[in-house]
Amino acid sequence: MPTRRTKRGAERTDLSGEVDVLVCGASFAGLAVARELAGARRPDGRPARVLVVDRYEVGERQTSACAAPTEWLERLGLSGSIRQTFSDLVIHTPHGSARYRLPWTFSTFDYRDLCRLLDDQNEAAFETAKVDGREGTTVRTDRGDVSAPLVVDALGWRRVLSPGGDGYQPPDAPLSRGLEVHPGGRGRDLEIWIDRSYVRAGYSWSFPARDELRIGVGSFDPRRHVREPTVRLAGDLGSAAVRYQGNWIPHRLRRAAEDGIFFAGDSAGHCLPLTAEGIRTALYFGLACGRELRAVVEGGSDREAALRRYAAFSAGHRHAYESMLLVQRLVPRVPPRLLAPAVRALGAKRFVDWSFGHYLAIAPPEFAAPAAAEEQAGAPGTRAGDAPGRATAPTPAAA
Ligand SMILES: Cc1cc2nc3c(=O)[nH]c(=O)nc-3n(C[C@H](O)[C@H](O)[C@H](O)COP(=O)(O)OP(=O)(O)OC[C@H]3O[C@@H](n4cnc5c(N)ncnc54)[C@H](O)[C@@H]3O)c2cc1C
Repeated sequence: MPTRRTKRGAERTDLSGEVDVLVCGASFAGLAVARELAGARRPDGRPARVLVVDRYEVGERQTSACAAPTEWLERLGLSGSIRQTFSDLVIHTPHGSARYRLPWTFSTFDYRDLCRLLDDQNEAAFETAKVDGREGTTVRTDRGDVSAPLVVDALGWRRVLSPGGDGYQPPDAPLSRGLEVHPGGRGRDLEIWIDRSYVRAGYSWSFPARDELRIGVGSFDPRRHVREPTVRLAGDLGSAAVRYQGNWIPHRLRRAAEDGIFFAGDSAGHCLPLTAEGIRTALYFGLACGRELRAVVEGGSDREAALRRYAAFSAGHRHAYESMLLVQRLVPRVPPRLLAPAVRALGAKRFVDWSFGHYLAIAPPEFAAPAAAEEQAGAPGTRAGDAPGRATAPTPAAA
């Protein structure tokens, strides 16, 4: 594997040039794309030139509470980043609480560790650079212009490489607002609060991660500020409001391919409405995108076909996303006194198994196959004979 060198200060030399694939953004989506390109060879037999850029070092800036279905992490070889695993979800309302025994587990993980483990699975070059925009498929960065026939925007909700002028800005765009604090402390359960005293439309959470708690508030209404309730919730739980991190969270799908650019993760609105779970889906669509790109790089497909197929794959999930958005809009309308009995009734085992099974199937863990490098080494259960057509993903289940 080539040695990585991230240049700093005077070493931030000009990056201008051309590569086969340029992946902008090195978080969940971008690293998943790069993973699928590991070992890709061009038809002339040369290794594909893949460049990943991000304004920060890989894993430097945590972007979430970092909870994801455990099986996704295991299948991607990311178990080493897991901090705590949960079989139950505890839901609090002002009039009572319910404990759901989940048919699969969630785990909280360490962001830096996860990014490093995922990053180890690609063979791309990495550079720190800020992406400012593009002309066609030439991307402007603060270290020069980089051209590539295949460009991925995995830059998060800002969708920096979008064809300009779509005016997608908070508070008018379909974005939720999320903020959390990370005090030291321990907890046993993954807990959420559906409590309007914290947030009128949205939910609050406390996710333990071994020796740290991730306590936060998410508002589906971008106009509602969440700092005060986040501090209050932390106080109510006996924790200090320290180490803040927050961001906008998209709750609507956007076009996954537009104007010759591939979009994956939050840039394509791949975060799920209602739950604001966006890590699993960023990985999922990142893998799908990477598989399409690999087929193009290796000569088995062409760019236009890949753009079309990937866009269709993403759009094929629209029903699930719209269904979850509907529930996101309905929950805040349930009268508070009905909420507790409703939450308790929905906690019946058969219903939890059914609903959480469907929920997982929107982006199922089976989609994550062993890394290309493992496959080449002949690891068992690999995907021989499966590429490039394997980018045809499983039919998405409705939520
Ligand atoms: C408070 C909060 C808690 C959350 N908790 C969870 C959770 O527990 N589980 C879950 O599944 N989801 C959670 N989410 C949602 C989740 O964080 C996102 O959906 C997920 O991070 C999307 O991944 P991504 O790779 O698309 O984008 P991001 O993780 O946002 O990564 C974008 C990358 O692009 C880089 N970048 C951005 N702009 C530029 C630029 N101009 N130039 C260069 N680089 C740039 C950034 O540095 C970053 O590395 C949470 C969100 C918030 C706000």
